[in-house]
Amino acid sequence: MSRLPVYRWRLAPEGLATRRQLRAAGLRPGGQDVAAQLERPRRRGRPPLVGYLYHVEQALPVRPMTPAKWAALDAAMTARRTCPECGELREYVIPPSLGCCNQCHAG
Ligand SMILES: [Zn+2]
Repeated sequence: MSRLPVYRWRLAPEGLATRRQLRAAGLRPGGQDVAAQLERPRRRGRPPLVGYLYHVEQALPVRPMTPAKWAALDAAMTARRTCPECGELREYVIPPSLGCCNQCHAG
């Protein structure tokens, strides 16, 4: 087994992420091997916390997206960005608290 590179906390190169960071982006390691280790020093001579880093490029979505799912997501986002008052497709999601786009709300 070859030694993994070890990076200091916050000094990991771009393109590598911990499982937790991947998860925050809706990704999972996806069966890839650990790419590197992350060492987070602690005070008072305690052993450092060690984490594992994975390649973001090789990560997979938590739930595999099928074309149908992408289409459904797209349709849902389009619906959320369409103003029920004027029917315009806006750049933003129509705020539920307003129930219409900013322009309609402004009168
Ligand atoms: Zn509107």
